[in-house]
Amino acid sequence: MQNRLLYRLSLKNTQTRVTALSLLPASYLVDLRKLRLDDARALLEHSGQSLPTEQTDATQFLQTVIDKLSELSLKDPLTGLSNRRYFQGILSREIEIVARSGESSFLLMLDIDYFKSINDQYGHPTGDIVLQTVAKTLSGCVRPMDTVARLGGDEFVIILSNCQGYYGQQVAERILEAVSALKIELISGVTLQVTVSIGGAFAPRWVRSTPELWINRTDIMLYRAKSEGRNRVCIEAQPVLAVSAEEKSLLFSPLSMGDPAWIESITTDDSAGSSDGIATEIN
Ligand code: GH3
Ligand code: MG
Repeated sequence: MQNRLLYRLSLKNTQTRVTALSLLPASYLVDLRKLRLDDARALLEHSGQSLPTEQTDATQFLQTVIDKLSELSLKDPLTGLSNRRYFQGILSREIEIVARSGESSFLLMLDIDYFKSINDQYGHPTGDIVLQTVAKTLSGCVRPMDTVARLGGDEFVIILSNCQGYYGQQVAERILEAVSALKIELISGVTLQVTVSIGGAFAPRWVRSTPELWINRTDIMLYRAKSEGRNRVCIEAQPVLAVSAEEKSLLFSPLSMGDPAWIESITTDDSAGSSDGIATEIN
């Protein structure tokens, strides 16, 4: 009960906050002077976020700290993109949407080519500049509704929701071009150029996949792009699932009860890289 009240405190909905506050006994009122906020403050300031200094409203102050820390926990500090945690949440939600609506959703996985040699030759801080520049370029190549995240190292992912036709392929090729056209100028006067390899795969429509399987299929495509010479795009062919209206309604009924209708099963190495890699089974 206590936990639930505290949780509700962090909700953004003002009405809910007011209700939660009014339910709190007096012993729950927080004296800000007794809170040790130094670490939180340092963390936020380090990430370029400033906290209100002259605070008359303690609740508002605390709410700002909680909101900013929550936001920070979902971001990659180096590039400002979404981080792995946020990406995984969005990916799971996307799978739900695709399974229920049959909408097309596309996942791209990108890795900078020979990035380690940039670190080795020019140093880690230069490598960081390259990561930041590539990150900015990726964000500029997609729609605001798409999710761009840094998984870690020099690896990025992009979820393209409601991705119709060849849009995914077009975005991937646009990124390939935009990144290779970058001229990253260093203070020393040296200009760096980089390329990326990109793998892409659709979430199977009308099928309840898992984040692991979808990521795995995309990763296989990225691996192929690397092994075929880098600076290229490899996309898994989208499986054509002919589902009649009657079948759709059958698929929907178990979904509405919380059970998956069709489940994407584990791919085998033999089927990697082809549309046959997506096996489905009726539950
Ligand atoms: P490949 O073409 O096969 O991708 O080769 P690569 O050299 O890019 O190899 P890989 O992708 O494995 O290299 C990733 C490197 O990224 C290794 C690691 O030292 C470096 N790295 C990881 N995180 C960071 C970071 O935050 N900043 C910098 N500058 N380097 C990082
Ligand atoms: Mg790399």
